[in-house]
Amino acid sequence: MQLRCFQCGWSFGISKDETAAALEALQASGGSHYDAHCPRCKRANKVSVEQLKHTLPRPRPEEKHST
Ligand SMILES: [Zn+2]
Repeated sequence: MQLRCFQCGWSFGISKDETAAALEALQASGGSHYDAHCPRCKRANKVSVEQLKHTLPRPRPEEKHST
């Protein structure tokens, strides 16, 4: 997914793998935001779980990991 840093305005991308890993970690921990660090100024940009979900294709039910 493509992000724009709120601090410096730098555009940077997060790979699909990183997005998937972030979403999985948030769902496991019950968090609501992923901190995507800007490669330019190193500030954490908050990405909501909803944004992460939108980026990824819907997982098939038989691949659900929960429980
Ligand atoms: Zn930045």
